Amino acid sequence: MAGTGTIVQPTVWRPEIRGAMETDLDRAIDTDQLVVHYQPIIELRTGEIRAAEALVRWQHPRLGLLAPESFIPLAEQTRLIAPLGDAVMRRAFHAARSWRRAGLPSVAVTVNVAPQQLERPGPAARVAALLAEAKLEPGAVLLELTESAAVRDLDAAARAMHELRELGVRFAIDDFGTGYASLDYLRRFPVAVLKLGCGLVWSVTEDPGAATIASAIVTLAHDLGLDVVAEGVETAEQFEFFRDRACDMIQGRGSGAPMPDEMFRGLLAGAPVRAPASAFDA
Ligand code: C2E
Ligand code: MG
Ligand code: MG
Repeated sequence: MAGTGTIVQPTVWRPEIRGAMETDLDRAIDTDQLVVHYQPIIELRTGEIRAAEALVRWQHPRLGLLAPESFIPLAEQTRLIAPLGDAVMRRAFHAARSWRRAGLPSVAVTVNVAPQQLERPGPAARVAALLAEAKLEPGAVLLELTESAAVRDLDAAARAMHELRELGVRFAIDDFGTGYASLDYLRRFPVAVLKLGCGLVWSVTEDPGAATIASAIVTLAHDLGLDVVAEGVETAEQFEFFRDRACDMIQGRGSGAPMPDEMFRGLLAGAPVRAPASAFDA
């Protein structure tokens, strides 16, 4: 899932180097080796950028720029996911604050959180402290509950999410319908946004079953008062499919791959952004 720059393909680390990678990752957190890229999330009705998803990469000193698939699973299996998550949040909140201070259009920032981050003690206080440090208002933040790991303690996660919602932070369920999330999450968790994952989005124009599921999720979300983001929109046909179903937002290479902060600021300075003619103009 390359954005800007070369990204080493996802790797399952051999047991003999796994330990070394863990030590390297521990050192990388809170240094310049962790890099956060931003991918625009565009409102379909207006073509305007409404948000940016913060996506972490690791500039490994020997291995190059690593995609999150290469190290998020390792982080999730160790205690490292919590400090890594905090480090990404810190960068993303500071970036969102700096866009506002520069007079750029106010867009929200979305940050992926692993279930482990919600299950440890005091997640709301930790997020509140990071918001205060960045001087960013909670309404500018959306946390995406990632689907790479199942929520083990539903009650703890729901409690943390309700506390954060009280603060004004909103939540999205990522890759809805393809990962671990069940419909029950929509009842238990204070969710504002559903994100359709790339796999489902890429299938809608090929597979009638996928099209039916995607349409049904958009309708379900709207009936529940939630917004829907289609992730991974690359082609004109996919764009038209989601536009015709009144999906709220799209995120994908067709309208902008993940990019470094400086590049995203440039994009914001030229906003409103229209999808590139080659991909989206019917
Ligand atoms: P995600 O949160 O579902 O993020 C969307 C992924 O889809 C990103 O991959 C993005 O680059 C990719 N994508 C978006 N549009 C397109 C497209 O049009 N074509 C293609 N081929 N790909 C597209 P990325 O950046 O490799 O991230 C993969 C996953 O790693 C994320 O999936 C998320 O689950 C996880 N991740 C990334 N950053 C973090 C983080 O800070 N914390 C945690 N816990 N997980 C993270
Ligand atoms: Mg996400
Ligand atoms: Mg996703």
